[in-house]
Amino acid sequence: MSDYIPYGRQDITQADIDAVVTVLQSDWITQGPSISRFEQAVADYCKAKYAVAVTSATAALHIACLAAGLGSGDWLWTSPNTFVASANCALYCGAQVDFVDIDAKTYNLDIEALEQKLLVAELQGNLPKVVVPVHLAGQSCEMERIAGLSRKYGFTVLEDASHAIGARYRGQPVGNCQFSEMTVFSFHPVKIITTGEGGMVLTNRDDLYEQLIRLRTHGITRNEHLMTEASHGPWYYQQLDLGLNYRITDIQAALGWSQMQRLEEFVGRRRQLAARYNESLSGLPISLPHQHADTLSSWHLYVVRLQLDELRLTHRQVFELLRAAGIGVNLHYIPVHTQPYYQQLGFNWGDFPEAEQYYREAISLPLYYGLSETDQNRVFATLKQTLM
Ligand SMILES: *Cc1c(COP(=O)(O)O)cnc(C)c1O
Repeated sequence: MSDYIPYGRQDITQADIDAVVTVLQSDWITQGPSISRFEQAVADYCKAKYAVAVTSATAALHIACLAAGLGSGDWLWTSPNTFVASANCALYCGAQVDFVDIDAKTYNLDIEALEQKLLVAELQGNLPKVVVPVHLAGQSCEMERIAGLSRKYGFTVLEDASHAIGARYRGQPVGNCQFSEMTVFSFHPVKIITTGEGGMVLTNRDDLYEQLIRLRTHGITRNEHLMTEASHGPWYYQQLDLGLNYRITDIQAALGWSQMQRLEEFVGRRRQLAARYNESLSGLPISLPHQHADTLSSWHLYVVRLQLDELRLTHRQVFELLRAAGIGVNLHYIPVHTQPYYQQLGFNWGDFPEAEQYYREAISLPLYYGLSETDQNRVFATLKQTLM
């Protein structure tokens, strides 16, 4: 029996373990100095003014939507080709969700479709308040064009960069918020760096930052300048909004800070492995990932699409044969609008055909920092054998 190769996994060193143990032996295991050190490291790397660490990217998306003022009667638009959290964040705020179909080449939100949908929405008076571009697999969306549309139509841009820490757009780090109000990262173990569970919101705006740090901790402030009356004393705080407890622990933040020290190494290795896939898989009846000239992906995922008319097997058969051979392939993503919860909100199969066509053909191959060339060669060989 050969070993199972997962599609993604974390890489933890002794230095990571030591960083966590140091926190466990210190006075602060939550709300201590490790959190701001981690936030500063990410903000510096991304060239953003502020970073707010929270318990997950889902929590980050939620408070980012709240900070954007999203509420009942408002709309959030995102890509159907994403994890459900990119859309659910609107529903948490009592807002409504709609989707913009994907581009056939990049699999990211299609800018022309977005532009068309905005034209119609303007006439109908239901323009979105927030648009969430998702940088699928680590490849940035065309942010300058999205920012242009946001100025024209007045929506807030919230980047779901859960896949994309370490990626670049026009030579600059994703997360710098040059073309958005806020950017969210995920630190789930399959993502580029990990804190176990964790997420972060980055922004350059002072007002949003103030709201985000309050929303992370019950809507409470200890900043006297923000209080509605003079402080009652050293114990005093005020609750100004209905926030949540989305605080990350110092234990997790220490792991995150330690992992940040290797971000370039992580992403560099992923790029090497992606290049090896590109070389070895050309000539097979599959479409390899297309890269837009303005982007440098962090390669969270390596997604191929089967050219089904050239195969005698179905998508599912290929998937099952690979799994049976110990290759932990996966599928990113089931179009969100086809989930039963979203169908019950009125969406149906057929609503976003490009995302659905992608779903019928896509397979994510194993890709992670610790993937050995021997194991990757086994993926090539198994795939070739299965498809030829
Ligand atoms: C992983 C992921 C999320 C959610 O991240 P968590 O940290 O697990 O909450 C959101 N959006 C996308 C695109 C993701 O891949």
